[in-house]
Amino acid sequence: MQTRQLTGKTALVTGSTSGIGLGIAQALAAEGANIVFNGFGDAAQIADLQKQTAAQFGVKTAYFGADMTKPEQIEQMMKDAISQFGSVDILVNNAGIQHVATIEDFPVERWDAVIAINLTSAFHTTRLALPVMQQKNWGRIINIASAHGLVASIGKSAYVASKHGIVGLTKVTALENAQTGITCNAICPGWVLTPLVQKQVDARAAANKISIDQAKRELLLEKQPSGEFVTPEQLGALAVFMCSDAAAQVRGVAWNMDGGWVAQ
Ligand code: NAD
Repeated sequence: MQTRQLTGKTALVTGSTSGIGLGIAQALAAEGANIVFNGFGDAAQIADLQKQTAAQFGVKTAYFGADMTKPEQIEQMMKDAISQFGSVDILVNNAGIQHVATIEDFPVERWDAVIAINLTSAFHTTRLALPVMQQKNWGRIINIASAHGLVASIGKSAYVASKHGIVGLTKVTALENAQTGITCNAICPGWVLTPLVQKQVDARAAANKISIDQAKRELLLEKQPSGEFVTPEQLGALAVFMCSDAAAQVRGVAWNMDGGWVAQ
């Protein structure tokens, strides 16, 4: 069998117990990377996920349940991952949450949580992963931003601020390491049908007294010209490309995969 391109690398994907993070973790595992899972969820299901991924792709897996709002837990996770695997070669900052409210009604505690998880956690994981990547002169940091890292929508002040912020962090990380083998890029998905978006579909269906299918169609057509959801598998394939040798000079980009959303 041909050696897979990420054999011997270790990828830590935050928020990988669900949705996009899980899709990316599985795509990286399929290329041979060992996977460090992170995120919330049922302990037995997470243990199964770890076992299944290891068996299906013939890689090693670990799970650390660090709460990404807590810098000390992030530090412990990075330390444990590096000591268990020798390094974190690929870091995917994916954990994220949403809260929808106008600015004057936005709960202060929700603002702080969105910024902590969507933006500040990536600063912590990045600062802790870089020294070991710099020692090896190889690394890939992929930040999962959003179409909302490039354009705004009403009701999403904290989310849009966090996602524009992470695009900025991506550029600085890329520039500070531009003369090394470490690249940093952002992926900016449009609508992907994950639990994060399902909540918004359900809220729309309830508010407008329409079916779930109608709510999905309306949500898509408002923003996403293709009228189709982006999939975690498609995003996984883009992450794999960003880890490849072919992408060695892709540095500091915010790459939208969004069914045409930001082309408008
Ligand atoms: P999701 O809700 O399916 O998954 C979120 C993951 O983050 C889960 O594993 C969850 O356990 C984890 N998480 C949440 N809070 C955490 C915390 N405090 N500590 C550790 N882990 C935590 O959501 P998703 O749609 O897969 O979103 C993943 C990323 O993609 C997010 O950054 C989101 O903003 C971004 N994104 C999603 C979409 C979309 O349409 N779904 C579009 C653009 C960007």
